[in-house]
Amino acid sequence: MAAGPSSGLQLELDASGSGMDINFSGPLSEQPSFSLSQSGTFVKEDFVINKSGIAAVNGTPVPQLGVRLGDLEMLEILGKGASSLVRKALHRPSSTMLAVKILNVFDKGKRDQLLRELRTLYSNPLPWIVGFHDCLYDEGAMYIVLEYMDGGSLADVLQIVRDTGSGGLSELVLGKLTRHVLEGLNHLHHERHQVHRDMKPGNILLNSSGEVKISDFGLSAELDSTKEMCATFIGTHAYMSPERLSGAPYGFASDIWSLGVTLVECALGEYPYPAYEHGNYFVLLSQIINDPAPSLPEAQFSAEFRDFCAQCLSKDPAQRPSAQQLLAHPFVTMYADERRPFDLAGFVQTVSAMYRPVT
Ligand code: ADP
Repeated sequence: MAAGPSSGLQLELDASGSGMDINFSGPLSEQPSFSLSQSGTFVKEDFVINKSGIAAVNGTPVPQLGVRLGDLEMLEILGKGASSLVRKALHRPSSTMLAVKILNVFDKGKRDQLLRELRTLYSNPLPWIVGFHDCLYDEGAMYIVLEYMDGGSLADVLQIVRDTGSGGLSELVLGKLTRHVLEGLNHLHHERHQVHRDMKPGNILLNSSGEVKISDFGLSAELDSTKEMCATFIGTHAYMSPERLSGAPYGFASDIWSLGVTLVECALGEYPYPAYEHGNYFVLLSQIINDPAPSLPEAQFSAEFRDFCAQCLSKDPAQRPSAQQLLAHPFVTMYADERRPFDLAGFVQTVSAMYRPVT
């Protein structure tokens, strides 16, 4: 194991204690950024992780969940994110399908993302957040073992629907999905004071039981709810709010903007800003910051849906309703199960039967 020049890490050998430990620290930092013991234990901030999973959180040992790398048969690639590779895997002892997100811990940005993701996933399981089984460390790679969402992401679903030539997703399907996404965002914002920061179709996952869950918390940041502000500038630009792209403070309302862009894209069947199509990054930024927000055409969509998107896409973040307020919006309530029953599970099953894995 070695820290290459590009990693910007310094190696420090400490032969005291039970074994030889290696601490990796940034050149300017006093404290080690993370450490690896000879036995293959990764220690960073509140987490201690080894080959058998998460061993301790906040200095307290936790029961290991029993997922072993050797028990996992790695299958096809489900997706490639900016910072990781996600593979489908069979857990042989239980014959359960899982999704395994693989990251390289020698990259500082990825380590920080990993910790943010673990803090969100390790908390209590929730129906709107992708299930977490364990996190294992082995030979420089971190394996986050997640619930397998067999319907893929909303981006996958949209692509399949587009491939059939039928444009976007129906308003009814989007109404059903929106409620779940808002429940997840409301929990993140209200209970955990966390901004997701990377809301987009690729981070909304579906399964054949009709469940819809938010994933990818690598970019989430806990906010001081009084300040509602993130200083850093990362994430997926195409779904970022105008205030964020212009470098102003941003907070929970930024996730609401991203939801609005996601819904307009899924309804129209194409991303609403034309510059994206031409790969022109600076024009795209200028369009998001300066142009009127995208909207849905009157002829094809209900007044409720158009108003919902218009409110999410208010250029002024102060005008955007919270996730909690949006849960009471007529667009969400008119598609509630008791008023408009719909077999979302059947829809996902039909679409995923056409699913093409990434190679
Ligand atoms: P990154 O953090 O690098 O952006 P993601 O978590 O967004 O990676 O995952 C990338 C893609 O992998 C997703 O868009 C989705 O298609 C697929 N994916 C991720 N997690 C799962 C999961 N639990 N079940 C099924 N597919 C998944």
